Amino acid sequence: MLLTIVVLIAVGMAVYVIFPLLSAETAGGPLPTDVTVLGDLKRRRLVVYDNLKDLEFEFQSGKIARQDYEALRTNYLGEAAGLMAATQEAELLKQDDAVVEREIAARRVQRKTQPKIEYMCSACGYENPLPVKFCGECGARIAAPGKKG
Ligand SMILES: [Zn+2]
Repeated sequence: MLLTIVVLIAVGMAVYVIFPLLSAETAGGPLPTDVTVLGDLKRRRLVVYDNLKDLEFEFQSGKIARQDYEALRTNYLGEAAGLMAATQEAELLKQDDAVVEREIAARRVQRKTQPKIEYMCSACGYENPLPVKFCGECGARIAAPGKKG
Protein backbone atom coordinates (compact mmCIF):
# COMPACT_ATOMS: atom_id res chain seq x y z
CA MET A 1 0.00 0.00 0.00
CA LEU A 2 2.69 2.45 1.05
CA LEU A 3 4.78 1.46 -1.95
CA THR A 4 1.85 2.15 -4.27
CA ILE A 5 1.46 5.63 -2.81
CA VAL A 6 5.17 6.33 -3.14
CA VAL A 7 5.16 5.16 -6.75
CA LEU A 8 2.08 7.25 -7.52
CA ILE A 9 3.69 10.34 -6.01
CA ALA A 10 6.90 9.72 -7.96
CA VAL A 11 4.97 9.29 -11.22
CA GLY A 12 2.92 12.38 -10.44
CA MET A 13 6.05 14.43 -9.87
CA ALA A 14 7.64 13.13 -13.04
CA VAL A 15 4.56 14.06 -15.05
CA TYR A 16 4.44 17.45 -13.36
CA VAL A 17 8.02 18.13 -14.42
CA ILE A 18 7.89 16.64 -17.90
CA PHE A 19 4.41 17.65 -19.00
CA PRO A 20 5.10 21.39 -19.51
CA LEU A 21 8.06 20.46 -21.71
CA LEU A 22 5.97 18.08 -23.80
CA SER A 23 2.98 20.38 -24.06
CA ALA A 24 5.17 23.30 -25.09
CA GLU A 25 6.50 21.16 -27.89
CA THR A 26 3.14 19.93 -29.09
CA ALA A 27 1.24 23.20 -28.66
CA GLY A 28 3.64 25.69 -30.21
CA GLY A 29 5.48 23.49 -32.67
CA PRO A 30 9.13 22.72 -32.01
CA LEU A 31 10.71 24.56 -29.13
CA PRO A 32 12.26 27.80 -30.37
CA THR A 33 15.97 27.54 -30.85
CA ASP A 34 16.33 31.28 -30.41
CA VAL A 35 16.22 31.64 -26.64
CA THR A 36 17.84 35.04 -26.51
CA VAL A 37 16.05 37.99 -24.91
CA LEU A 38 15.22 39.35 -28.35
CA GLY A 39 13.90 36.01 -29.55
CA ASP A 40 11.76 35.69 -26.45
CA LEU A 41 10.34 39.20 -26.87
CA LYS A 42 9.55 38.53 -30.51
CA ARG A 43 7.75 35.31 -29.62
CA ARG A 44 5.70 37.07 -26.96
CA ARG A 45 4.84 39.84 -29.39
CA LEU A 46 3.62 37.29 -31.92
CA VAL A 47 1.46 35.72 -29.21
CA VAL A 48 -0.09 39.10 -28.42
CA TYR A 49 -0.75 39.69 -32.13
CA ASP A 50 -2.36 36.27 -32.35
CA ASN A 51 -4.54 37.12 -29.37
CA LEU A 52 -5.53 40.39 -31.02
CA LYS A 53 -6.47 38.58 -34.22
CA ASP A 54 -8.54 36.05 -32.28
CA LEU A 55 -10.20 38.83 -30.33
CA GLU A 56 -11.05 40.66 -33.54
CA PHE A 57 -12.52 37.50 -35.00
CA GLU A 58 -14.57 36.78 -31.89
CA PHE A 59 -15.92 40.31 -31.83
CA GLN A 60 -16.79 40.19 -35.54
CA SER A 61 -18.65 36.95 -35.06
CA GLY A 62 -20.54 38.41 -32.12
CA LYS A 63 -19.08 36.16 -29.44
CA ILE A 64 -18.09 38.98 -27.09
CA ALA A 65 -19.64 42.28 -26.15
CA ARG A 66 -18.18 45.51 -27.48
CA GLN A 67 -17.27 46.65 -23.97
CA ASP A 68 -15.27 43.48 -23.30
CA TYR A 69 -13.75 43.64 -26.75
CA GLU A 70 -12.55 47.19 -26.25
CA ALA A 71 -11.18 46.53 -22.78
CA LEU A 72 -9.29 43.45 -23.97
CA ARG A 73 -8.08 45.19 -27.09
CA THR A 74 -6.66 48.11 -25.10
CA ASN A 75 -5.00 45.60 -22.82
CA TYR A 76 -3.37 43.69 -25.69
CA LEU A 77 -2.27 46.86 -27.46
CA GLY A 78 -0.68 48.11 -24.26
CA GLU A 79 1.11 44.80 -23.90
CA ALA A 80 2.29 44.93 -27.51
CA ALA A 81 3.59 48.48 -27.02
CA GLY A 82 5.46 47.41 -23.89
CA LEU A 83 7.03 44.48 -25.70
CA MET A 84 7.96 46.73 -28.61
CA ALA A 85 9.73 49.15 -26.28
CA ALA A 86 11.50 46.28 -24.54
CA THR A 87 12.61 44.95 -27.93
CA GLN A 88 14.06 48.30 -28.92
CA GLU A 89 15.90 48.47 -25.61
CA ALA A 90 17.24 44.94 -26.06
CA GLU A 91 18.38 45.79 -29.59
CA LEU A 92 20.28 48.80 -28.29
CA LEU A 93 21.92 46.63 -25.64
CA LYS A 94 22.82 44.12 -28.34
CA GLN A 95 24.46 46.89 -30.34
CA ASP A 96 26.40 47.90 -27.25
CA ASP A 97 27.53 44.31 -26.88
CA ALA A 98 28.62 44.26 -30.51
CA VAL A 99 30.68 47.41 -29.95
CA VAL A 100 32.36 45.91 -26.89
CA GLU A 101 33.05 42.67 -28.75
CA ARG A 102 34.59 44.54 -31.69
CA GLU A 103 36.79 46.43 -29.23
CA ILE A 104 37.94 43.19 -27.61
CA ALA A 105 38.66 41.62 -31.00
CA ALA A 106 40.64 44.69 -32.06
CA ARG A 107 42.67 44.58 -28.86
CA ARG A 108 43.38 40.90 -29.33
CA VAL A 109 44.69 41.57 -32.82
CA GLN A 110 46.76 44.45 -31.48
CA ARG A 111 48.23 42.20 -28.83
CA LYS A 112 49.08 39.58 -31.42
CA THR A 113 50.69 42.02 -33.84
CA GLN A 114 52.56 43.93 -31.14
CA PRO A 115 54.33 41.49 -28.82
CA LYS A 116 55.34 43.01 -25.55
CA ILE A 117 58.86 44.29 -25.50
CA GLU A 118 59.27 43.30 -21.86
CA TYR A 119 60.45 39.93 -23.09
CA MET A 120 63.07 41.43 -25.34
CA CYS A 121 66.44 39.87 -24.74
CA SER A 122 68.97 42.39 -23.42
CA ALA A 123 71.83 40.26 -24.71
CA CYS A 124 70.84 39.75 -28.37
CA GLY A 125 67.83 41.99 -28.81
CA TYR A 126 65.50 39.18 -29.86
CA GLU A 127 61.87 39.92 -29.04
CA ASN A 128 60.48 36.80 -27.43
CA PRO A 129 56.77 36.59 -28.29
CA LEU A 130 55.87 34.91 -24.98
CA PRO A 131 56.74 35.64 -21.38
CA VAL A 132 59.83 33.50 -20.97
CA LYS A 133 62.62 33.26 -18.46
CA PHE A 134 65.29 32.57 -21.03
CA CYS A 135 65.75 34.01 -24.49
CA GLY A 136 64.52 31.74 -27.26
CA GLU A 137 67.33 32.92 -29.50
CA CYS A 138 70.49 32.96 -27.39
CA GLY A 139 69.40 31.44 -24.08
CA ALA A 140 70.33 34.44 -21.93
CA ARG A 141 68.30 35.03 -18.79
CA ILE A 142 65.50 37.56 -19.24
CA ALA A 143 64.57 39.77 -16.31
CA ALA A 144 60.94 39.34 -15.23
CA PRO A 145 58.88 42.43 -16.07
CA GLY A 146 58.31 44.72 -13.13
CA LYS A 147 61.04 43.05 -11.07
CA LYS A 148 64.49 44.39 -10.55
CA GLY A 149 67.48 42.28 -11.40
ZN1 LIG B 1 68.88 36.64 -26.63
